[in-house]
Amino acid sequence: MANFTEEQLIRLKAALHKRYLYLQKEIRNELAHAEDVSDFELAEYVNNIPDDIDTALVDRQINEMRELEMSMKYLSELEFGDCIDCGNEIGFERLLVYPSAQRCIQCQTQYEKAFPQESGPSL
Ligand SMILES: [Zn+2]
Repeated sequence: MANFTEEQLIRLKAALHKRYLYLQKEIRNELAHAEDVSDFELAEYVNNIPDDIDTALVDRQINEMRELEMSMKYLSELEFGDCIDCGNEIGFERLLVYPSAQRCIQCQTQYEKAFPQESGPSL
């Protein structure tokens, strides 16, 4: 795991959590009829998205939520902050801005070149 201070870890954890809740809210807004559903039901909707919904956008948000879940898991396993491709540190500032980042900037750039259709938020 990358070397973060306790304070940096707390801030990263908060950034992850905030982003996750934001995405959850956005997805709920898009699944307008699903406003009052529980998290469990939301997951059900996510697996059976009606045709009239902008699935590209929802797909992207769900993808990011999965990445955030992965990051939170890494955080609890003390593997957080390392690039999944090269193993180098992703960097505190990058993670703070983009908490679901799984790669360092160099690897992300290469990844987006290799898979342009999957490119997420660019930095
Ligand atoms: Zn890397």
